[in-house]
Amino acid sequence: PGLEKVCIIGSGNWGSTIAKIIGNNVMKLDNLDKQVTMWVYEELIEGRKLTEIINTEHENVKYLPGIRLPANVKAVPDILDAARDASTLVFVTPHQFIGGLCKSLKGNIRPDCKAISLVKGVHFDTAEITLISDLISQELGIQVCTLSGANIASEIAREEFSETTIGFKDAKNGELFKQLFHTPYFRVNLVQDVHGVELCGALKNIVAIAAGLIDGMGLGSNTKAAVIRIGLMEMKLFAEAFLDGVCDKTFFDSCGVGDIMTTCYGGRNRRVAEAFAKTGKVIYHLKI
Ligand code: 13P
Repeated sequence: PGLEKVCIIGSGNWGSTIAKIIGNNVMKLDNLDKQVTMWVYEELIEGRKLTEIINTEHENVKYLPGIRLPANVKAVPDILDAARDASTLVFVTPHQFIGGLCKSLKGNIRPDCKAISLVKGVHFDTAEITLISDLISQELGIQVCTLSGANIASEIAREEFSETTIGFKDAKNGELFKQLFHTPYFRVNLVQDVHGVELCGALKNIVAIAAGLIDGMGLGSNTKAAVIRIGLMEMKLFAEAFLDGVCDKTFFDSCGVGDIMTTCYGGRNRRVAEAFAKTGKVIYHLKI
């Protein structure tokens, strides 16, 4: 009683990397329950359940092979079992799953629950976009922070120095999440701007597509730098036009200029756009 208890919702490449960080951090923090649950979408790997493999071998052999997960991270296939006792939910799934997960969780979480979204995308239907933090907040009636940054998961899993940005509304939640995520190799900066941090993580993908097209067309560093800079300014204009309370400094943090750089050099959208420019093959589905 009185301890914060964490449930990680998602177990892909990024979710598993985050599970390593949180699992290790809670062991050092007095105010945190030592057992962390991780909701895993169950699948069979050579006839064995992925949850069973994670819980016995402490490795997500499918999505983060070669990286040892802390033994206090327990993979759970049922979302309600995973989240039942949690006071802190960490959402780290593809954006298209969030709506359905929240519907399952509604009415089944602790009243003192709070959440953080690591999702780099937005929910959209034909008419409008909704930020994932707002979707979670509206569905579950809880406060939601955001985390986004220049964060290619595999590099962080190998403990290569990186930084990230957490957007918070209440300083108390910001500090709690900083405790959970900060390590010497994964440095957390706090900004009081939930929406700005989140929108950067979604919009930078569009700039990365432009950067990939430039690479594919064989244009040089000047052009790419120009597109990255103009893209960042457009992200800022977009955020200011459609959202209230977005801070200038958010765009200078890891979630802004940092993430746009790493994604325009190392991201998947850059790669697919480069291939498109080089081959002319039709892109049926772009992750934006
Ligand atoms: P992708 O691999 O989806 O491009 O993600 C990269 C990223 O978000 C880096 O911060």
